[in-house]
Amino acid sequence: MPSSTQLLVILCLSLAAVINVAGKTTKVKTLILGAGAAGVTAARTLYKGGQKDFLVLEAQDYIGGRIKQHDYNGYPVEEGANWVHGIEGGLDNPMWQIKQKYGLKGFESNYDDFVVRNASGYDITDMAVKTAYEKVMKKLDRLLVIKDESIDISIKEASRRVGWQPKTQMEKAIERYKVDFEYTGNTERTSFNGWGYYDRDFFVADPRGYGVFLKLMSVPFKDKILLNKKVAHIRRLSGGVVVTLASGDVYQAQFVLSTFSNGVLGSGAVKFSPPFPNFKKKSLKKVPMGHYTKVFVKFPRKFWDDNEYIVYATDRDDGYFHTWQDLKRPGIFPDSSGMLLMTCTGNTSIRVEQTPKSQLKQEIYGILQKVYGNRIPYPNDVFLSTWSKNKFIRGAYPNPIVGAKREDYANIGSNLGRLFFAGDGTTSETFGFVHGAMETGSKKAYEILNCIWQSGYPACPVYTINKKTINNRSYMK
Ligand SMILES: Cc1cc2nc3c(=O)[nH]c(=O)nc-3n(C[C@H](O)[C@H](O)[C@H](O)COP(=O)(O)OP(=O)(O)OC[C@H]3O[C@@H](n4cnc5c(N)ncnc54)[C@H](O)[C@@H]3O)c2cc1C
Repeated sequence: MPSSTQLLVILCLSLAAVINVAGKTTKVKTLILGAGAAGVTAARTLYKGGQKDFLVLEAQDYIGGRIKQHDYNGYPVEEGANWVHGIEGGLDNPMWQIKQKYGLKGFESNYDDFVVRNASGYDITDMAVKTAYEKVMKKLDRLLVIKDESIDISIKEASRRVGWQPKTQMEKAIERYKVDFEYTGNTERTSFNGWGYYDRDFFVADPRGYGVFLKLMSVPFKDKILLNKKVAHIRRLSGGVVVTLASGDVYQAQFVLSTFSNGVLGSGAVKFSPPFPNFKKKSLKKVPMGHYTKVFVKFPRKFWDDNEYIVYATDRDDGYFHTWQDLKRPGIFPDSSGMLLMTCTGNTSIRVEQTPKSQLKQEIYGILQKVYGNRIPYPNDVFLSTWSKNKFIRGAYPNPIVGAKREDYANIGSNLGRLFFAGDGTTSETFGFVHGAMETGSKKAYEILNCIWQSGYPACPVYTINKKTINNRSYMK
């Protein structure tokens, strides 16, 4: 005999099916929305937990989300994530274990191998300034520990309070290199509550792509990942969730896990019924997406410094091409590549992603001529990532603004009945990282498994504000 709750679920879902006159209706126990790091990890957790009645719906035509490789004139470049961060954690770092397991190729970044050049091309590198700034970073670590979370300031303001007053071009450049490069270039509005950094990172340069581990991981359930499925509307009913695609097709599920970016969730591009409660809306505003664009510039030959990083000391504060990387180096690309990676962030990212390529090529040539002289060759080609423009991502990764607290990430990740949320914007500990996205995917899939394992699907865990983040690394097993 079905229970009254089960009868209600059947009734509601049948009603939803009747309403859908246009498209096809599919019933499944669990739906995962998005096939990025969080979605694939969640799918793997369900699969390994013996719950094989699930589907993953992905709007784009590939697996990986913000982990994506592009074949650029025969050279594989990473459009999104490139580093495994925090390798000093060794086996405690889940991504490091994954790197080892799947044999990701690359090398440890040497952030000390840099040169700073100003807009006239002078080498103004001063290692004493770098050492002084690293001491400031340690002071910021200590300040964060003693600071009251409810009184937030910007990272810029915090560094001024511990005595950092950059005046010279070198001082300003080192701050951009050490902080803006990581925090998507807006330290004036970035929350100091979100301060943190890793000391040692592994740069992935693998012909198979950074995302190869997600593809290999998903082999056993590959047929359950449906590409080109654009979710338009998510309706919560009393005992389940109905997901309607832009095509009109309908999926009815007992449990749904959204892994959409904070950019997508905050944009209103996907309709949620009933709408998000105010606490979720407010928190999404406090943890919006930052902007970070990778511009790969191909030249007939290398003419730049033979350093891993070239820091461009400009007076501009709009994220203007501050950090360049030599990709024509051992372990990345051969001599013939002539490849330079120029990163911009913040407002420059937004502008550059809209700029016609021919114009961008000319602009970059202009900067490089000033730095390296008029005899440099004209770029053969440019290729750039466009995550801010991508309507299924809407930014690069979360960049909390002043006032964001731990509870905001928890609010964004809070489940609404049978609708769960994971993704890199739902964790205060590891937001904006591949390993953070995976941890949330795994954790939420376990919550769903627990709901399923309770006979008759009684009420699933109710979200309580201020719930402590649990780091669940069991997806490694
Ligand atoms: C330029 C850049 C550089 C980065 N560098 C690093 C790095 O070096 N190291 C690191 O650890 N992290 C880095 N990150 C961050 C890292 O890539 C992300 O934290 C992680 O990939 C996020 O995974 P996710 O599954 O949470 O989200 P996503 O990868 O965004 O997955 C969500 C999926 O949902 C899909 N989707 C959205 N809307 C819909 C819809 N309506 N219907 C169906 N599907 C939809 C999207 O297409 C996407 O595939 C970088 C990110 C960027 C953009």
